[in-house]
Amino acid sequence: MILYPKAYLERVEQITIEFLQKNQIKALILDVDNTLIDYNRKLSEEVVQWAKKLKQQGIKLYILSNTNHKEKVEEVAKALDIEYQNLAKKPFKSGFLKVEKILGEKPENIGVVGDQIFTDVIRRKPC
Ligand SMILES: [Mg+2]
Repeated sequence: MILYPKAYLERVEQITIEFLQKNQIKALILDVDNTLIDYNRKLSEEVVQWAKKLKQQGIKLYILSNTNHKEKVEEVAKALDIEYQNLAKKPFKSGFLKVEKILGEKPENIGVVGDQIFTDVIRRKPC
């Protein structure tokens, strides 16, 4: 099995509406640690504005995290006004499938954003 992300980006803010439209992505499943927040658990104003802008453009966002620190994920989710699920057990399919249902989009129209290829990205490739 060959795994590869569709894009390597330094920061989530580099995911633009143009990029999403070009790739027919209508929803994003977002990781938290080292993706929405940095190593020091800091959520930047840039990420807050980025999420707001994408939502205004009709992109659905959902946070899916493996962490057992519920309050940490909840804090980020509240700040961004996004629904979330922690203890997601990524890369197992169950968490992703549940969120796909909630988002109401086809898998090919959902992007997964994360810093770990084996936990965050593996699900997206057809088996
Ligand atoms: Mg992470």
